[in-house]
Parts: sequence; C-alpha cells; structure tokens
Amino acid sequence: MKIRKGDQIKIISGNDKGKQGKVLAVFPDESRIVAEGLNMKKKHVRPKQQGKKGELVRIAMPFSVSIAMLVCSKCGKPSRAGFRVEQNKKYRICVRCKSEI
Ligand SMILES: [Zn+2]
Repeated sequence: MKIRKGDQIKIISGNDKGKQGKVLAVFPDESRIVAEGLNMKKKHVRPKQQGKKGELVRIAMPFSVSIAMLVCSKCGKPSRAGFRVEQNKKYRICVRCKSEI
C-alpha cells in the first residue's frame, strides 16, 4: 500500500468526493485507511450516568484506499505514488514532480 500514516489524501469518489484530509491510520490487510474529517459517521453514545442524555458523536470510519488519492507534499497536487530503487533503498516518489515523498 502506497499511502502511509500522516499523508495528505484526497477523496476521488463517494460522498466525500473532493475533500482532503490527513491519514490517521492505515490497515494494509484490509486496504483501508482512516483520515481526519473524512467518512464521518454519526454514532450514538449511551449515557454514562442515569438521568443524563446520550450523545451524538461524529467519528472517522475506515474506508477503502481505492477511493483516495495521495496529495504530494512537494507539488501539492493529487498524484499517484511511484517507487524508485537506488542503492538497494526504496524511495516513494510523486509521479508528477518526481520528488521523494
Ligand atoms: Zn509532486
């Protein structure tokens, strides 16, 4: 998976299409990610004490990495990530500006 924690990503389809957010967690086994402010779902939280009201909180849910595009930290454009191997080291690069990201 080319997207890592801390990356800026842009959603390319679905309800959040066009929105950007920072990746908070990645789940490579499921090819899913969680990003700040994206794919927010409402969740009812039961009251902790009797007589108090339950709360409605919004939490970021994991979504498929296939609807997210990496935003290059160098050129600021959504781009695909590529890899370059040099001296047995693997670098992730932006396919647009070719800089290491
Ligand atoms: Zn770039």
